[in-house]
Amino acid sequence: MQFDILTLFPEMFQGPLSTGLFQRADSRGLVAVNLHNIRDHTHDRHHTVDDYPYGGGAGMVLKPEPIFETVESLQSEMPSEQAATLPIILLTPQGRLFSQPIAEELSRHPQIVLICGRYEGIDERVREYLVTDEISIGDYVLGGGELAAMVIIDAVIRLLPGVLGSEKSSLDESHATGLLEYPQYTRPPVYRDWPVPEVLLSGNHAHIAEWRREQAIIRTLKRRPEMLERARLDNKEERLIERLKQPR
Ligand code: SAM
Repeated sequence: MQFDILTLFPEMFQGPLSTGLFQRADSRGLVAVNLHNIRDHTHDRHHTVDDYPYGGGAGMVLKPEPIFETVESLQSEMPSEQAATLPIILLTPQGRLFSQPIAEELSRHPQIVLICGRYEGIDERVREYLVTDEISIGDYVLGGGELAAMVIIDAVIRLLPGVLGSEKSSLDESHATGLLEYPQYTRPPVYRDWPVPEVLLSGNHAHIAEWRREQAIIRTLKRRPEMLERARLDNKEERLIERLKQPR
């Protein structure tokens, strides 16, 4: 999968792109990130990328020309059919809220473009006439879209086949099943008088799977009860929830 990132600060990506999961995915040829400095597509002596907002107000606004030109130069290098369906995503606190289903949706594309804004934001014509999607990573305002792009890349690449050590790793995780994940333990079996639940040491895989599923439901009910409305549960699990909801 290929990510093309438009940014004024390509150096911000150096750390995340040279460590951990990303590095593994890159070395296996499963993912490529191309960083495009928006400033390279300016034509004036000062490489101007921003200007004052029409109508006044605080801060500067990113100009449309370098952003359009960067995307169009990318598109000119690909077959026209691919260029026409290329997802061009603007990172903005005004976009749809990023989530695991959106990460899954993005992971099905061979290539996506992420546009990182800065300052007061981007000229509205970019949003109206260039981008195909707008994503926010949360209801707060960041100084720029770079961290948001990194969050999205991280969440998406771990879903690509071959990136995680075990393909099953991402299937059980919080949000993948509509539930939060069950509690995890590792050695030692007893730490400061706090034992690991016995069932996990039993070697009985059916009991372990049942315990984990139940714990995931209990945890979700306690922390994110609204998620249960969308989770796929069988009758026994529905009854368990009803029981848990009863006042003790
Ligand atoms: N004035 C803009 C507004 O109120 O919507 C916010 C601009 S913000 C300071 C600068 C840039 O950071 C945005 O253009 C966007 O690319 C990025 N950004 C900020 N918060 C974000 C969020 N929650 N999700 C994704 N991108 C965000």
